Amino acid sequence: MSITKKNPAPKVKGAIAQRGTDSYAIIPRLPSGIISADQLEALARAIRQFDIPIAKLTSGQRIALVGIKAADVPTVWASLSMGEGRAVKHGVHYVQACPGTTACGYGQQDSLALGARLEEMFDGLDLPAKVKVGVSGCPMCCGESYVRDIGLVGRKNGWTVVFGGNAGGRPRVGDELASGLNADEALALVGRVLTHYRDNAKKCQRTARFVEARGIESVRAALGLPEAPKASE
Ligand code: SF4
Repeated sequence: MSITKKNPAPKVKGAIAQRGTDSYAIIPRLPSGIISADQLEALARAIRQFDIPIAKLTSGQRIALVGIKAADVPTVWASLSMGEGRAVKHGVHYVQACPGTTACGYGQQDSLALGARLEEMFDGLDLPAKVKVGVSGCPMCCGESYVRDIGLVGRKNGWTVVFGGNAGGRPRVGDELASGLNADEALALVGRVLTHYRDNAKKCQRTARFVEARGIESVRAALGLPEAPKASE
């Protein structure tokens, strides 16, 4: 029996072709999952005006609009006045952040503020594979920090930076690189470890596989970090 493959839909800038259909999805950027009333209204208007059949909250705290006709994609983007969230290109796809001290009684650090700074810092950065970031305002880790490529965990004494986590089909708990950092120090360390990863990983190699291949001690040594911190309490 021969199988005839359907030709893939043509590429449309800023949109993801939906398999088996001639429609597209777009994912506006929503740093740390924060959305304003104006943005909500713009999204609702676009959904009605362009008859978009699916608006889906994603696991990365974004809203995907699915089922858009190719010809409508540029007009939908123009009507939203929102940036494009990465979904297929290599680089930082999203930064998810829990409410932290802004809106959670358990918060020990301002995860929303740090998430916003991270999102800004890495916007457009090309990396060997996709990178997901999770920021949690306390050790309960609602931001899933230990199973993201980059994780930040707020504690009373500052931020812990975690690297190499993954929640996919081959899950991996990330390794702590340092603890007790202020926000600037945490961001600087994230920048250094991502630069090391960018310069040394194979194309398409996620951070979890990179750490498995190299060993976390090799990564720590390359970053000039002291011996591994003791397990956090
Ligand atoms: S990780 Fe901590 S601060 Fe963040 S939502 Fe969960 S309990 Fe609250």
